Amino acid sequence: MKKHIAVLAGDGIGPEITDGAIAVLNKIGEKYGHEFTFEHRLMGVCAIEATGEPLPQHTIDRCLASDSVLLGAVGGAVNDPRINNLPGHLRPEAGLLKIRAALGLYSNLRPAKLFPALAGACPLRRDLAERGLDLVVVRELIGGTYFGERGRGEENGVPYAYDTEKYSVPEVERIARIAFELARKRRKHVTSIDKANVLESSRLWRETVHAVAKEYPDVELTDMLVDNTAMQLVKNPAQFDVVVTSNIFGDILSDEAAMITGSIGMLASSSLGATKRGLYEPIHGSAPDIAGKDLANPIATILSAAMMLRDSFDLPEEAKAIEDAVNKVLDEGYRTADILSEGKTQVKGSEMTKLIVERI
Ligand code: NAD
Repeated sequence: MKKHIAVLAGDGIGPEITDGAIAVLNKIGEKYGHEFTFEHRLMGVCAIEATGEPLPQHTIDRCLASDSVLLGAVGGAVNDPRINNLPGHLRPEAGLLKIRAALGLYSNLRPAKLFPALAGACPLRRDLAERGLDLVVVRELIGGTYFGERGRGEENGVPYAYDTEKYSVPEVERIARIAFELARKRRKHVTSIDKANVLESSRLWRETVHAVAKEYPDVELTDMLVDNTAMQLVKNPAQFDVVVTSNIFGDILSDEAAMITGSIGMLASSSLGATKRGLYEPIHGSAPDIAGKDLANPIATILSAAMMLRDSFDLPEEAKAIEDAVNKVLDEGYRTADILSEGKTQVKGSEMTKLIVERI
């Protein structure tokens, strides 16, 4: 199989971790007889420095011409003088929103799983951690508050700002179907998160999810308010299988779920739309505090590459080969600094990549 992958390494640790995923994909290509080619394009602070925009049109065009996109992370440190005073639409994060919209990626899947070898890194009480955690947050990605009408104004000399949460029935239907289909391949339970006791957009969300649920009588559906979900995630995370929610709630809850697993450096994500072309990225950011020190854990990005093989290229065996290699390295006791615990062997980020490549 021949596949062309656009690589948006981005900023901070982005280049280090995407290099790790590329090394792993090259090893998979060698072992299973596939040819993966890579084309690097600018996005984020590096693109702002080079072109004045966080996501130049040329980058979008090359992503649209690729079979899939691998993204590192974008963004600078707090108070980064290169971006500090930029208006919202020229900030690195605006590039993230724009690439999702340009590629029509309406669903973001973020699996949060507690790796058995890392159970000690889970910040929850031991009895809760032992019950396990294996859930997927299905987040709507190109609607809601992050894309709704926004603005600023002044009323009687008092400045104000607003953002709008708006969802249409088809937008909710398509993300709900992704969640129900996924649940069918898992433990057949969907929890739909909203704030229907207060928000009209949430009431439409709930009605629509229930209408879609009728197509999936084999999948159990539970509604949960977002504030309760924030509590339940730390009280009893084992109750969740597939969690479906809006863009803004999904953004927040998936970070919470990630933290429960012990390290943000371990979790992958995929964003897909109506075609097989997806965007694959770790859930963490550009970690400017550790950039350039070879301390970044490449595993989240490497596991994102595994998701690309499975979901975009239909290569489940190759995806599993990567996941097995990651598990093996962890079982052997190797750890990057972020997941280090007593008695384990600390390795640099590049060494972690090398160990994984060797075990494929
Ligand atoms: P962050 O995820 O970059 O870092 C949070 C903490 O986790 C830091 O201490 C960091 O060192 C650590 N960390 C993150 N990834 C790691 C890894 N792979 N290995 C080891 N440790 C890791 O979040 P932040 O500090 O809030 O944001 C930094 C920048 O990243 C900001 O500019 C933010 O806007 C941006 N950001 C980008 C994305 C994205 O590109 N998708 C997502 C979140 C944040």
